[in-house]
Amino acid sequence: MNLIKSIMTKNPCYTAGRKITVKGLMLHSVGCCQPNASVFVNNWNRPDYKNACVHGFIDGNTGAVYQTLPWNHRGWQAGGAANNTHIGVEMCEPACIKYTGGANFTCSDLATAKAVAARTYNAAVELFAMLCKEYGLDPLKDGVVISHREGHSRGLASNHGDPEHLWNQLGTGYTMDGFRRAVKAAMGGGGVALLPPTPKSPSRPRKRAS
Ligand SMILES: [Zn+2]
Repeated sequence: MNLIKSIMTKNPCYTAGRKITVKGLMLHSVGCCQPNASVFVNNWNRPDYKNACVHGFIDGNTGAVYQTLPWNHRGWQAGGAANNTHIGVEMCEPACIKYTGGANFTCSDLATAKAVAARTYNAAVELFAMLCKEYGLDPLKDGVVISHREGHSRGLASNHGDPEHLWNQLGTGYTMDGFRRAVKAAMGGGGVALLPPTPKSPSRPRKRAS
């Protein structure tokens, strides 16, 4: 995982300086067609940006994770009580989608959009596995790893549909249950992530370029 520390020290949420005891992780999707995480970091890292502040953005083009708040800082990410308990991370979205109203969008290049969604999904799995280990969290336990949408149905977050709205409309097949299982699997057995055994590749005669 490419983790880039980029703390938004000018955002009023950072300067408010409140800490939380981390009890869970909330997954978001930005809700606009901007794959470039640094655009968000630059826009949000201002004293007059009072709308929101999250702990990280995952870049849609590279999968890099920009950490924008200390993990145990109280974020302004959920629009509800989950701010007091959960770390919030945004996945950036493809440039080739166009929102038409609410959470609905059209997509001009499905293959590219799916590749962006896969890149951010995979990076989120890795990041959440790292954070679950760091804070001793079980991603399969009820309410620990949740989406913004699930946070709303639990009464802990504002009324948003992310990130499932993106996954569903792109036909990715991703679900939060699958995501939680992937995080658990990525945590491996011990203190360090277990690498899968290296398969012995059968030696094949190399084709000679003629
Ligand atoms: Zn959200």
